[in-house]
Amino acid sequence: MSSVRENPVDKYLRTERMPSIWCPGCGIGTTVNCFARALDGSGFDLDKVAIVSGIGCTGRVAGYLNLDSFHTTHGRAIPFATGLKLANPELKVVVYSGDGDLSAIGGNHLFHAARRNADLLVVCVNNFTYGMTGGQVTPTTPYPAIASTTPYGAYEQTFNLPGIVAAAGATFVARWTTYHVKQLAKTMGEALSKKGFRFIEIIAPCPTLYLRRNRLGEGLEEMKFYREKSVIQNGADPKDVALDYREEIPVGKFVDVERPTLEESMEKRMTEALGAKYVPYKQPGKMSPRA
Ligand code: SF4
Repeated sequence: MSSVRENPVDKYLRTERMPSIWCPGCGIGTTVNCFARALDGSGFDLDKVAIVSGIGCTGRVAGYLNLDSFHTTHGRAIPFATGLKLANPELKVVVYSGDGDLSAIGGNHLFHAARRNADLLVVCVNNFTYGMTGGQVTPTTPYPAIASTTPYGAYEQTFNLPGIVAAAGATFVARWTTYHVKQLAKTMGEALSKKGFRFIEIIAPCPTLYLRRNRLGEGLEEMKFYREKSVIQNGADPKDVALDYREEIPVGKFVDVERPTLEESMEKRMTEALGAKYVPYKQPGKMSPRA
């Protein structure tokens, strides 16, 4: 009998690709562990779960998960995922990427997918910097944190991501840190089982660039900071959960509502417009007639 205990998340990972490229103390791996645990408790047919990433350190997540994985171009994970979902409505499609990829390069796609209520779960790992390319400032870098492109400190207004996606129309919005592993796995499981545009922001440490450049210590010290500064505010108005540098971190589930998804809205309009002539696009191989 083997004395080595199997890790319950191993079957969700491409273990042959380990060790990962992530630096020691990086928070991204913790988020993947939580996601694997959420999948483990979901009972989903994994052949019907697809994961799409953009570019960046978090963009490597798709390559490590043992799912149908797509590593797309910078900022384009959401339009790719939207097309994937429309082409195969049976899929659960998850977008997993970083703050730079999703809110800067891909910012336009983020807002419009929320507005359309595209049926996607978007997981955004927010470490306040572009890790892979050398620690440049991003739309979430807080004033006055130092980045390679703001050596005297960031000075622009930052994005409050939950506030933005909620205002655009997201139906599920939550934020946790990598300290909150149980809550994060539970929220991921809940979001996976829902429909519509769902957004989870995860505050995570980048010790190699962001923490080091700002003299904030190692990843473990950042976990202590998250524990001390996080305040659970379930149901808070997303416009009130903006982050300040090294101040309180509001976390929790802020939005959980229902409205028709992009596919449902399209089906409704086409049925109203075309009546019996309309062939639902969900029938494989059949195209709807043009009006
Ligand atoms: Fe993680 Fe930062 Fe290293 Fe990228 S550079 S793997 S975000 S610690």
